[in-house]
Amino acid sequence: MNNPRPCILQIAIDTPLDAVFDYRWQCEDDQRPQIGQLALVSFARREVVGLIVGVSDQTDVPVDKLKDALAVRSQLSPLSAQWLALAGFAADYYQRPLGEVALPGLPKNLRVLTTVALDRAIKKLAKLDLPHDPTPANMPLLNAQQQQAADAIGGAQGFKPALLYGVTGSGKTEVYLQACAQVLAREPDGQILILVPEINLTPQLEGNIRARFPGVMLATLHSSLSEGERMLHWLAAHEGKARIVLGTRLAILSSLPHLKLIVIDEEHDPSYKQQEGLRYSARDLAVWRAWQLRIPIVLGSATPSLESWHHAQSGRYRLLPLRERAVKNAVLPQVKLIDMERDKPQDGLTSQLIAALRQRMERGEQSLLFLNRRGYAPVICCESCGWISECTRCTSFMVLHRPEHRLRCHHCSLEMRIPRHCPTCGNVDLQPLGRGTQRVEEGLQALFPQARVLRIDADSTRKKGSAQEAFDTVHRGEVDILIGTQMVAKGHDFKKLTLVGILNPDTALFSQDYRASERLFAQLMQVAGRAGRAGIPSEVLIQTRYPQHPLYGAVVHHDYDHFATALLEEREQAALPPYLFQALLRAEARELATAIEFLNMAKDCVAHPGITINDPIPMTMTRVHNVDRAQLLVESPSRPALQAFLREWMHALREMKSRVKWSLEVDPLDI
Ligand code: ADP
Ligand code: ZN
Ligand code: ZN
Repeated sequence: MNNPRPCILQIAIDTPLDAVFDYRWQCEDDQRPQIGQLALVSFARREVVGLIVGVSDQTDVPVDKLKDALAVRSQLSPLSAQWLALAGFAADYYQRPLGEVALPGLPKNLRVLTTVALDRAIKKLAKLDLPHDPTPANMPLLNAQQQQAADAIGGAQGFKPALLYGVTGSGKTEVYLQACAQVLAREPDGQILILVPEINLTPQLEGNIRARFPGVMLATLHSSLSEGERMLHWLAAHEGKARIVLGTRLAILSSLPHLKLIVIDEEHDPSYKQQEGLRYSARDLAVWRAWQLRIPIVLGSATPSLESWHHAQSGRYRLLPLRERAVKNAVLPQVKLIDMERDKPQDGLTSQLIAALRQRMERGEQSLLFLNRRGYAPVICCESCGWISECTRCTSFMVLHRPEHRLRCHHCSLEMRIPRHCPTCGNVDLQPLGRGTQRVEEGLQALFPQARVLRIDADSTRKKGSAQEAFDTVHRGEVDILIGTQMVAKGHDFKKLTLVGILNPDTALFSQDYRASERLFAQLMQVAGRAGRAGIPSEVLIQTRYPQHPLYGAVVHHDYDHFATALLEEREQAALPPYLFQALLRAEARELATAIEFLNMAKDCVAHPGITINDPIPMTMTRVHNVDRAQLLVESPSRPALQAFLREWMHALREMKSRVKWSLEVDPLDI
């Protein structure tokens, strides 16, 4: 029998320090822990779970400094080399230490559970069973384009990115499902990852998947699961038991040892981008993951991102078009522009839109009003002295929430009662300025007292499960007029909806952000796409002050192709992404000058041939929660050159040990 002998575990820990840490572990030679296992260690006077990334006999750490690891989670199968490579790639690409990427990518419970609790979770997983009645729901007969697409995806071997470019209602979901069926049939243990942009879209798809593949275990991963559920679902995927994983962006880092296909629905959606901490793009990581595993991936959208469209044009992605709606007789809605200069709105609604709403009411059909601004009014003001409800902590306004009798800042969550009189001059007549969903709801109730009006936005759906309840009410036909923000714009298949009214989209036309028009176009096409899906003729009415604007022209003609091609040309001429690669260094401080000073110092701290570093500027919304923010934009036409520079630059910045809080974002979406 061997004597226990110490080995050295190299462990990645969730800390900003860019290093792995050595710990000693006593074990027999044939019992050595494996790379990819988790270990409990003491770090900075706390007990934390780290990830074993190396096992060795040697260390440079002096013996008296070397600590023992406290436990190894040997009951959990190690994370695969491929998963470690994915985390490693993300760490490199987004310029973060491995531990800061790998550990937050795991369910929290895995990091805090005791051994006993972990054993219990594993036991629970073993008992997890499928329903007894494995009669799959019928598969509808695909039309020719759908069939072609499903075969191209399901039958692909190797790394084959495909862009499923299908107009709204063209039956993209059906294509995914049938491609999945092919892969599941061919690969006895094969796993499939399906990403959707929003939690609210998971129940609909989840229902479809369960009905279609009753004999296959499905795991869901999104932020509204309890930690216990998340742990169980994660384990089901990790142990290969769940063969389909459906989730939001965070699911891209799940452990899927037999991954054979990745599906990204609504691939253009900005919510695939994580906007804090590790600011990764789940879509981009998904493409990398597919490349690494040499497996097919499909990106689906009615309005692909310009990045993906560019790849489809250049042949890097295979373009799979679905040009028609799938349901018999369903055609795309007629889009009309209402000139608000001629038809002056009352309570935010033009007479043409009101007439159209009335008509739907009479016919017993549903209408949707889309306004991407929640609250009652974006600001209140005093007409006698000009006071307006600014947030005291942010460069922004306090939004009036009338039903809740509050003013709220949407950026720092500051709340207060609505003042009875003007804080500056005492005037009691404070007026709401502008219009949010609550105010439109109120106007509708006055206009159509008999109508069943339902508002769906972040405020009306705070309680867990309430969003789903609201959507169910619409599906059951118990709503005449639905008013909502972008929450209602995406993905939903409302059968009785025949009118979409779009209020106030103009502001985005003149944004400084060069991506604003791409985003607005996608959003309008998305929300327009909610209408007429079941074959009843339908209409989309857009209220605008700029009916001549070419963007609206493209929406009227449902013409993504030309619009995207023209935008790409503009981007190429102006040398903007996707023809240019960017990173953004942000700095935060109590005083703007401190942040700018830091960025100026950062600007010159490393030589940068071939890389453009712009001057630091305050962010558009400079102050949030009493912190001033500034940014520095770094650009290069070469991604490898940019990456090489960033690596060196981050190293230098970490060495600087400045007290200013800073962070780097690679491929920023909002500049
Ligand atoms: P998309 O995601 O492209 O907007 P969906 O996948 O939601 O579209 O499909 C729209 C509607 O078309 C759904 O009601 C779906 O059941 C239906 N559908 C899809 N494919 C077919 C088909 N081949 N025959 C009949 N109906 C279909
Ligand atoms: Zn006043
Ligand atoms: Zn605020």
